[in-house]
Amino acid sequence: MFDSLQSRLGGVFDRLRGRGALTEADVDEALKEVRTALIEADVELGVVEDFVKRVKPKAEGEAVIRSVSPSQQVVKIVHDSLIEMLGTESTGLNLGSPPAPILMVGLQGSGKTTSTAKLGLLLQTKEKKRVLMASLDVNRPAAMEQLKVLGEQAGVATLPIIPGQTPVTIAKRALASAKVGGYDVLLLDTAGRQHIDEELMAEAAAVREATNPHETILVADSLTGQDAVNIAKSFHARMPLTGIILTRADGDARGGAALSMRAVTGAPIKFLGMGEKLEALEPFHPERVASRILDMGDVVSLVEKATETLDKEKAEAMAKKLKKGAFDMNDLFDQLNQMKKMGGMQGLLGMLPGVGKIKDKLDEAGLDDKVITRQQAIIQSMTKKERADPDLIDGKRRKRIAKGCGMEVSDVNKLLKMHRTMADAIKAMKKGGRANPFAALMG
Ligand code: GDP
Repeated sequence: MFDSLQSRLGGVFDRLRGRGALTEADVDEALKEVRTALIEADVELGVVEDFVKRVKPKAEGEAVIRSVSPSQQVVKIVHDSLIEMLGTESTGLNLGSPPAPILMVGLQGSGKTTSTAKLGLLLQTKEKKRVLMASLDVNRPAAMEQLKVLGEQAGVATLPIIPGQTPVTIAKRALASAKVGGYDVLLLDTAGRQHIDEELMAEAAAVREATNPHETILVADSLTGQDAVNIAKSFHARMPLTGIILTRADGDARGGAALSMRAVTGAPIKFLGMGEKLEALEPFHPERVASRILDMGDVVSLVEKATETLDKEKAEAMAKKLKKGAFDMNDLFDQLNQMKKMGGMQGLLGMLPGVGKIKDKLDEAGLDDKVITRQQAIIQSMTKKERADPDLIDGKRRKRIAKGCGMEVSDVNKLLKMHRTMADAIKAMKKGGRANPFAALMG
């Protein structure tokens, strides 16, 4: 996701960096290009204009232009504004007191039923909640059956189907069952509609009235771009949405819907559907997404993903190190190993700082693993001391390391820069007192 935007913006900021000292005109020119890049990514025009209006005075200020690192400052301002646009922080589900009814609404084919089952599975496995799901789609018995089958696959309970009941009756029966059964969460999969249709909208509103849901989640198809945003607007006007699940984000290179959704509807994206499998639902983190778009590397996601496949002992050792804010070359080497092991290179590569721009070329040539092996060769060419304390590595050492692995000094520099970005992010994480990403994994 966001691949094309990432490469466009990468180019803009590279040009800016190349200029060293900046004038107002330089920044103005760069922002024009940012504007075009956002429009090409299918971001809603009003959102783009707002964005540029917000960024411009900050980025063209004296403080930035006269600063030591003006281009980095501009990138940071764009980064922070992107986060604002996407919603300041990741907002989980408001579950409140059990059983928490959650209403799932959306057009037919958006991935609503699949997302309901995905959410049920996620709440059950990651949050240890007991989940009951019920389909309210009385018009399409196949839809009810589909939820039942998905529930069986996911190991999530579904309400027994009784033909002939109205959606409100089913919803009330589901709520009663959830109470009696001691469930924490009740997912209500409302009837899909082909387009915004008053009758079905009224039906969902009636269910909403009868169940007083803690969350009303719209499921929308990311691939439909601005249509998805307009659909969200229409739903929101009729019943306040508390969150959005964007499906098919796995196939959406532009990401316009994701980028516009929050600004246009006010409702935050809570999850992204990243594939057809029931496990393919990811919490949405605005900060990580903004970093990924600007190719600043999504270190936290990367580390989290890597740890999921690490063995427990290694994960604990790594967590201890990270708590201290430390991340040396040995850790980077281990991370690279994990990446190789995990196979899912495409997604992982996008998380590494600086890799985004060359990713397309790598994809074409199928070079992913080779790149990692080369990076590891550079690390292997370092002495033990250097690996433990990369700050030691001066110009002379860089030359020796490059020679040792048959690569250029620029390759060594690139690796050192990547390491620095990751180490800094981890240090910042520690300073900010952010939750340890490993905590959840270690129970
Ligand atoms: P509904 O009519 O809105 O309930 O849609 P379904 O849940 O039946 O989904 C329609 C199709 O989209 C199914 O084939 C799903 O497997 C697929 N689908 C749902 N979510 C995603 C996703 O995040 N990514 C991909 N690639 N396919 C998805």
